Amino acid sequence: MGYVIAVDGASGTGKGTVTRYVAEKLNLITIDTGALYRCVTLEALNKNVKLDDVKELENIAKTIKIDLKVVNNKQLVILNGKDVSIEIRTPKVTNNVSIVSAVKEVRAEMVKLQRKLAEGKNIIMEGRDIGTTVFPNADVKIFLECSAEERARRRVEQNKENGIETSYEEVLNSIKNRDMIDSTRDVSPLRKAEDAIVVKTDDCKPNEGRQKVYEVVYKCLKDKKIII
Ligand code: C5P
Repeated sequence: MGYVIAVDGASGTGKGTVTRYVAEKLNLITIDTGALYRCVTLEALNKNVKLDDVKELENIAKTIKIDLKVVNNKQLVILNGKDVSIEIRTPKVTNNVSIVSAVKEVRAEMVKLQRKLAEGKNIIMEGRDIGTTVFPNADVKIFLECSAEERARRRVEQNKENGIETSYEEVLNSIKNRDMIDSTRDVSPLRKAEDAIVVKTDDCKPNEGRQKVYEVVYKCLKDKKIII
């Protein structure tokens, strides 16, 4: 049995940066669960499936093949054999993913997949419901918080680095909209697990938040004698 670190929080709170950093430090496998929901959404959009067609969405979630791998220090997301790492981050997918991820049947499949990907490994998994639903017994639970405005500012920068031009207003609206859908949906809404440690990243300079989280995680693992 490996150990599990859960990192939850709203869109753009820095989960990806934090997760990659802690994983590198502790030699962990990372699992970006948002990428899985994005793959289902991309596949649905490519197949012109209506986003209220639960049966079809469930069918996609059951049959698509997703591989997460690291090549030259880069996380790649492979969907049915094709590298979609950039495509799943485009506004087209981003603006629709919360609708798809609110579907109970899709979540059930993705949770199964997430548990399977983690089997027997030391992992750090990022998402919205990792500490509450996917791994309620995770060894360490982190919940990241940051204002919507600061998150939007950072996401615009990040998009730019990926070659995607987006406006601040557009991104802020999209973030607020996703926050609303993610935290009010019936199944596994975005919510802090009672035993999660909250880390606020608003005032963190680049690279500061990730170090803060690493120190918290390291201390927890030490205190629990999971690492020596
Ligand atoms: O983390 P990221 O922004 O890539 O996630 C994309 C979307 O996937 C979120 O807005 C949310 O709707 C959904 N998601 C989820 N549960 C997770 C991870 C992501 O519902 N564990």
